[in-house]
Amino acid sequence: MSDLTITLLAGGVGGAKAAEGLAASAYSDATHIIGNIADDEEFHGLWISPDIDTLIYSLGDQIDRERGWGRKNESYQVLNELKALGQETWMTLGDLDLATHIYRTELRKQGVRASHITQRLANRHGVQVPILLPTDDVVQTQVRTASGWLSFQEYFVREHCEPKVLGIDYKGAKIARATSEALNQIANSDVIIVAPSNPIVSIGAILAIPGIQEAIEKSGAYVIAISPLIAGKTIKGPADKMLESMGKSTDSKGVYQCYSSFLNALVIDDVDRSDAPWLEGKGLDVLVTPTFMSSTEDKRALLTDVVAFALAQRQQRVA
Ligand code: GDP
Repeated sequence: MSDLTITLLAGGVGGAKAAEGLAASAYSDATHIIGNIADDEEFHGLWISPDIDTLIYSLGDQIDRERGWGRKNESYQVLNELKALGQETWMTLGDLDLATHIYRTELRKQGVRASHITQRLANRHGVQVPILLPTDDVVQTQVRTASGWLSFQEYFVREHCEPKVLGIDYKGAKIARATSEALNQIANSDVIIVAPSNPIVSIGAILAIPGIQEAIEKSGAYVIAISPLIAGKTIKGPADKMLESMGKSTDSKGVYQCYSSFLNALVIDDVDRSDAPWLEGKGLDVLVTPTFMSSTEDKRALLTDVVAFALAQRQQRVA
């Protein structure tokens, strides 16, 4: 499998599950991940990159498995002191986690590329699968609500995804430059897997960076997405509500609608098997299988099946 090249497009929690599945599979050496930087935000003067850190902590087995984010064995002395000083502390940042943010911020100030900082943090946690950034520039998802625009973290963490989403903007995306590493990786891919991540704010934010979506469309890779929705609901997070407010269907059909310009196949859960004929009617290959991942074995098994399915279908298309 040495000449096989797989790219995973990943957000945070759903992205990290797929990343762990590939890392635990026979395809780990073939895999590169492209992560989402548009959830990034500054808190207490520090640059926080939640989706990238979720990938690094998960792959480095440092994640708090119950929450799906943050470090395990975490303490909150710094945050408690900031609260006592009257600072806003709705963004839960633990002491160990803060070291990551201090390090990232210091290197950014020195002018080190965000991609290289990510690589150094990944090395620190023993992460073997390369994590690439779609851009080194600042792109930040903004959410329009009835009371105005919110940053993504204000909407997601402070407001618990409660306000109705009236629109999304990827601030800075139009002038962002895609990294050559991400573009080359996409161009050289045999299989591109879209993780079961939020199609609007995780994957949508990666695709919004000029050149990325075009590179996928032109790559010749077999592109397969795992639906983040099971029975029309997300496991966690606002993807269903966001799809609805974007006028898309809140099921696998809506996921297809987000990726229709480049998708070859969609992986849907057993409970959604009645969607398969509609998707096949759109020219997609459909893999129907259990898609909820809890244990490492669930993740490894699903991602192994996804790659095997993609390779078999790709072979058929070539033949
Ligand atoms: P975030 O940036 O932390 O919100 O993470 P992502 O965008 O990567 O992932 C959020 C999405 O992951 C949600 O829409 C969930 O429904 C989906 N998700 C989480 N766990 C699973 C799982 O085990 N299976 C599937 N199919 N989707 C999942």
